[in-house]
Amino acid sequence: MRKAIIKIFTLIGVFMIAFCKLYGQDEFQIIQSKIDDHLKAEVKNDLLTSSIAADWPRLQKEGSYADINYSSTIETAWPPLLHLKRLNYLTLAYVIKENKYFNQQEVLAGIISGLRYWYAQNPSSSNWFQNDIAVPTALGEILILLNHNKINFPVFLQDSLLQRMQQGNVYKSIGANKVDIATHMLYRACITKDKTLMATALEQAFYPISFTSKQGLQYDYSYLQHGPQLQIASYGEVFLKGEYKVASWVQGTIFALSADKLKILNNYLINSYLKTIRGRYIDFNTEGRGISRNDILDKKSITESSVNNSLLGLAKKASPENTGLINEAQDRINQIKAPSYKILPSHTHFWKADYTLHTRPTYSFNVRSVSKRTVRAEVGNNENLLGKFLPDGSTNIQRSGAEYFNIMPIWEWDKIPGITSRDYQEDQPFTIEWGERGVGYFTGGVSDSLYGASVYDFNYNEVTAKKAWFFFDKQVVCLGAGINSFATQNIVTTINQSWLKGKVLAYADEKLSRVKSKKSMNNPSWIWHDSIGYYFPDSAQLQITNQKQKGSWAKINANRSKEAIEGKVFKMWFNHGVDPADATYAYIVRPGISQQEMQIDKQQEIKILANSKTLQAVKNEALNILQVVFYEAGVLSDEDITIKVDQPCMVMVKNIDTKNPEIHLADPTQKLKEVNISISSKIMKREDKRLLVLPKDNFAGSTMSYIIN
Ligand code: CA
Repeated sequence: MRKAIIKIFTLIGVFMIAFCKLYGQDEFQIIQSKIDDHLKAEVKNDLLTSSIAADWPRLQKEGSYADINYSSTIETAWPPLLHLKRLNYLTLAYVIKENKYFNQQEVLAGIISGLRYWYAQNPSSSNWFQNDIAVPTALGEILILLNHNKINFPVFLQDSLLQRMQQGNVYKSIGANKVDIATHMLYRACITKDKTLMATALEQAFYPISFTSKQGLQYDYSYLQHGPQLQIASYGEVFLKGEYKVASWVQGTIFALSADKLKILNNYLINSYLKTIRGRYIDFNTEGRGISRNDILDKKSITESSVNNSLLGLAKKASPENTGLINEAQDRINQIKAPSYKILPSHTHFWKADYTLHTRPTYSFNVRSVSKRTVRAEVGNNENLLGKFLPDGSTNIQRSGAEYFNIMPIWEWDKIPGITSRDYQEDQPFTIEWGERGVGYFTGGVSDSLYGASVYDFNYNEVTAKKAWFFFDKQVVCLGAGINSFATQNIVTTINQSWLKGKVLAYADEKLSRVKSKKSMNNPSWIWHDSIGYYFPDSAQLQITNQKQKGSWAKINANRSKEAIEGKVFKMWFNHGVDPADATYAYIVRPGISQQEMQIDKQQEIKILANSKTLQAVKNEALNILQVVFYEAGVLSDEDITIKVDQPCMVMVKNIDTKNPEIHLADPTQKLKEVNISISSKIMKREDKRLLVLPKDNFAGSTMSYIIN
């Protein structure tokens, strides 16, 4: 009996060892198989066939292409790289069963002679990227395809090329470059079944999935690149795609991305990046200088229905548990479901990026601003030639999502929605390439992740303004004060500049009228356009145009088409005039309201308690929320509540009419260590005094909260 048991255990042991050995080897097989699938899915079969048909006659016996200059060293569109791209296509065609070149011996002979020729010539570019990333990646892809599909290939040539692939310093590179170099290291590791190399490659590939105060993913879950510059889509999207790609390859193996890092990556995708998309279109603030590229705001390109190996497809593969959430986003982007579908209310202020996201099922209202801590915006590679004023409090107000889609060539660029600026006759070009820092420190936001307020102490181009936004459910209140300038132009604050859609209605002096092509008003009560209401609590010099505007993509991006573009634009702005002295503005944006509701809804729950250069405060009586910007130490008092602070800061009070109000406080300057605050209210019948120690280091500027008991 005992012997039998020992026998069984021995047998199990032998099986275990055999299994582990097999399993250990299989890890590389599994990864290679996923890379193989990925590469095969990159190109459509008919495109593959037609390009090979075109290029095949140019391939000479010695393995070179007649039309390629192999001695070229130019930086971009480097001709020798084309050689590897063609060999890559040949290899794909040779291993894809459905392709007409599948298993054709002369094709394999071509690949081998082509690779031999490359090895002998060893072309080199004066651009490090070609040598350290483009070439080893292309070689690695070819070798993976040959290796995984068990193609009979000279071992000596393979080993020589693997050696040639050892380019680039993965440790010294950052962001996408690091991931790219790590990726070709990973190719080598797969082919040579080198566990140590694989571990190093993955450690480096996944290194950017960690918080940094330099370029990359920030502690507030924003993404900054090219200095501390807002790039949540643009470079942030490249980061997401690169990481999910590698994560999906190694998923389910011993090399898999750690659960902690996967959580960070998913959080960035779901709570930052995807929230900047409304319906099918992304916030124009998130694309960096890419704002000047046509179709960039259309995010169909990240969905599975658009391309193989799409961002959202890879994210699903890497984290199958997020399939539901990702499919909901895809349904909105693909316009199968309404933009409001499964959208939950949320509010985020990114204190590292000076950017605010306010999301409701009926709308998105996001604000971009800037400070000495961040970079304004950039012009570079002849892109974004006119985006100079983009960060000056631009408001992205979306309902359908398409409000600003491809409008940029015909925008008037000193009237970007939300900003305060000089009104020039001609749009002003950027003069400094690759961005400059903002001015001032008092830029920030207070937030409880549902409601919040944001502030931008604006000072640029000899114009100053205290700009603040107060975010609730139904509406966003926008205030400006201390507007000053000695410039010779009119100073204007633009409320919106979007595609004209349907009629524009104006209500003033108790009369309703329809705005035709142009209108100037001194006492507007409200304006309505495209299901968005704009209320004006104070008298104001308001200008509206509903006119055709003209431009071209080349006007804002020298690499793009010169073809003339025109379209009708709804544009509305306050004219503060020339040489304003402490001018102010106030408007309430109410997205998702019908023309009929406008007649009834007077925004009575909104009380603007202060709008000066020292204090701005708004109370929402329906929600029992009070939001205050203290530009200086001071007091805010109304019939219900009194708030005293001994430092400049922002305060939000919820549940004002209870004995237990909830207090949220943030320091926009990110420099304070502590604040003394006292709250007293009619219902509390006492004064609650506290010394608050503020969040520091990477969390300076974030919100701290407490409840008065
Ligand atoms: Ca202008």
